[in-house]
Amino acid sequence: MTAKIIDGKAFAAKVRAQVATHVAKIKQSHGVTPGLAVVLVGEDPASQVYVRSKGKMTVEVGMNSYEHKLDADTPEADLLALIDQLNNDDNVHGILVQLPVPDHINEDLVINSINPAKDVDGFHISNVGLLGTGQKSMVPCTPLGCLMMLRDYHGSLSGLDAVIIGRSNIVGKPMAQLLLGDSCTVTIAHSRTRDLPDVVRRADIVVAAVGRPEMVPGDWIKPGATVIDVGINRLDAPEKGEGKTRLVGDVDFASVSQVAGAITPVPGGVGPMTIACLLANTLTACCRAGGFEEPEGLTA
Ligand code: NAD
Repeated sequence: MTAKIIDGKAFAAKVRAQVATHVAKIKQSHGVTPGLAVVLVGEDPASQVYVRSKGKMTVEVGMNSYEHKLDADTPEADLLALIDQLNNDDNVHGILVQLPVPDHINEDLVINSINPAKDVDGFHISNVGLLGTGQKSMVPCTPLGCLMMLRDYHGSLSGLDAVIIGRSNIVGKPMAQLLLGDSCTVTIAHSRTRDLPDVVRRADIVVAAVGRPEMVPGDWIKPGATVIDVGINRLDAPEKGEGKTRLVGDVDFASVSQVAGAITPVPGGVGPMTIACLLANTLTACCRAGGFEEPEGLTA
């Protein structure tokens, strides 16, 4: 079998277009422009790239982008004061603090000081609790993007066996809640799971979110299963030239794509969906704040 490739890049472009159309609509009918504030503390090069590309795409869909770059040694109190200011700014509908923050700053405190209604990352404990109890919440962007692709490919997910490898707060746990919400039978596997290959072999849906390059081989996959590869791992690629690198997922694409029914590639799978879902969440937050109609299919 050769798996169907789930094209996250094309899907994300569709989501962004849908967001842009709805943004134009609420601008026209309500005179409101959704705004996303992104806060970056320090000069981590990868974070700088993410923040730049988030800002660019925010503007492309017609929203306002507010970037706040703080020095790496910014005191925690100053960051909290900025968040308080953004919480009280009616032009800001979404707030994202780029993680990780420097060690002297308490990450949990920062996340939980964001107004939950503006918490477009969905990491605030209130949103985690709302999601866990099946209530309307802001949903973390990466698992939301995975869910959208799974719904699009399968239609109904009801009754399917889903195995998520990885139990992080950012991906694994919220992914489990979302798939449970869609009536999958969910298993979360992790670094202490016994007989991981056998656990994964049961799955109709595998979501790999581990951070270990090409860890999942084809012989762990049930024939015809759908495989969502969240991992982003950079490997040296001397074959491309000195100092060059390439991106790989947590799944061994070459062997898994021979067995799976469908698979997301890396790059071009989950990654682009994450930013598209951030824009969707900002729009959702704006609609909820203003009491405007929410767009179809852009949240859980
Ligand atoms: P994390 O380090 O917080 O969590 C990794 C999880 O993997 C842990 O729960 C751990 O128990 C589990 N694990 C580690 N070794 C294992 C093993 N040998 N067997 C089974 N489980 C094992 O990572 P994270 O933040 O969830 O990210 C996971 C991967 O997803 C990383 O590669 C990250 O870069 C990527 N990621 C991608 C996006 C995206 O937009 N595509 C977003 C977030 C994270």
